[in-house]
Amino acid sequence: MLIDMHVHTDRYSACGRMTPDEMAEAAKAAGLAGVVITEHNVMWSEEEIAELSARHPGLLILRGLEVSAANRHDILVYGVMDASLFHKDMPAREVVEIAHQHGGVAVWAHPMRYHRMMDEEVVNLPFDAIETQSVNIDELHYPALHELAVSRKLPEVYNSDGHDTISLGGYANYFHQAPQNEADLVKIIKSRAYTPLVRPFWAEPAMAYRNKRVADRIEQWVRAGQTDPEYLWKRIGGSIERINSMVAACLTKVEKAK
Ligand SMILES: [Zn+2]
Ligand SMILES: [Zn+2]
Repeated sequence: MLIDMHVHTDRYSACGRMTPDEMAEAAKAAGLAGVVITEHNVMWSEEEIAELSARHPGLLILRGLEVSAANRHDILVYGVMDASLFHKDMPAREVVEIAHQHGGVAVWAHPMRYHRMMDEEVVNLPFDAIETQSVNIDELHYPALHELAVSRKLPEVYNSDGHDTISLGGYANYFHQAPQNEADLVKIIKSRAYTPLVRPFWAEPAMAYRNKRVADRIEQWVRAGQTDPEYLWKRIGGSIERINSMVAACLTKVEKAK
């Protein structure tokens, strides 16, 4: 079964651009068998999951957490059901330790989204896996992140990190056995009994849409006079390489229009 272990909705993620029901419908339409809702620093209650699941039979809906750790490192936590153990801006090391102390797992999400080099403080933490491909990871970084996982001897996971319906379906993990709940999910992640998959039919339009959104935001900034790629990268994320070329293209376009 295919599971996307990293999705957001507008219920608890301010950046979410789909309702929980839209998320569930899009996940089913893209052939996913399951999703794990990982809002930023907030965990859905058991009742909320039960309610959404009842409206979407046939879709496994589990819950996790995406912790915004210090220095803009994001960590996905699964299997720890008490979200109050975590808080925004806590050191990444503590997030991993607490996840493990409570029987959960910690996955490093989009490692280079806001970082040019691997932060020494984070790169050697005992993560259970690394998210190396998603709609929020620039394709330019896929090879480096794959190398990172290989060098750390850690398995890779691919997720959508979907904030909108178009993002769902392109990146997921094939689970060789179906988890029934979060405890099962943890067992499977620990035993590495899954295979990350890219599904181009869904991934390509999702990436095109992502890049268009980034280009539009850059154009707004450039028109407002902000052309520093470093500044824009810190706000938008992705890769400095892409932001650089997008800013250059945008400057040419704005110049021509004059
Ligand atoms: Zn978000
Ligand atoms: Zn996310």
